[in-house]
This record gives sequence, structure tokens and C-alpha cells, in this order.
Amino acid sequence: MDMAPYWQHLDAEIAVTPMPQDYANWRVDILCNDCNKPSRVQFHILALKCSHCRSYNTRRIKLEENQAVLDAHLTETAIQRDRTESAPSERHDDAVQ
Ligand SMILES: [Zn+2]
Repeated sequence: MDMAPYWQHLDAEIAVTPMPQDYANWRVDILCNDCNKPSRVQFHILALKCSHCRSYNTRRIKLEENQAVLDAHLTETAIQRDRTESAPSERHDDAVQ
């Protein structure tokens, strides 16, 4: 089965669907089901393209690792925001006057 027309369709879809800035530097490791080679590509929500044979017939590997790093980053940011908002006793600007 010749998948080339389908991959070209995905190429077009991806070209008109830019990922949010938050994901611009997010790379994922994939393994190609066609050529069995791993590659590291920019994450895209629609599909991930093998950089060796241009196939989209790929699967993500080490996704959990990436996801864990991302989750940890988000949690850390949330905790810092919580601390800032819910610790009025550590604010000195009111007490000085
Ligand atoms: Zn491939």
C-alpha cells in the first residue's frame, strides 16, 4: 500500500497547523514502524514524521519521560505561584509603613 499521498496530506495539514509557542522547543523521540530507525523530532499534535524515510508511521518512545519533565515543570510553577499568593506574613512592604 502506497502511503505517500496520505503523508503528503499530513504534510499539508501540519503546515497549516502551527503548534503553540509553549511546544516550539518540545522534542520527542520516535521510532519509525517503516524503517525501524529512531529519530528526535519536534512535537506536533497531528503526527510525527520520521526524519529518515519521511513516513508518519511512527510511534513515540520515551514519551513518559518527556511528559514527566513537563508535568514537573508545570507543578513547580504552580507551587511557586501558590507560595507567592498565600503567604502574606512574608510580605514586608505593608509592615514597613
Ligand atoms: Zn522511517
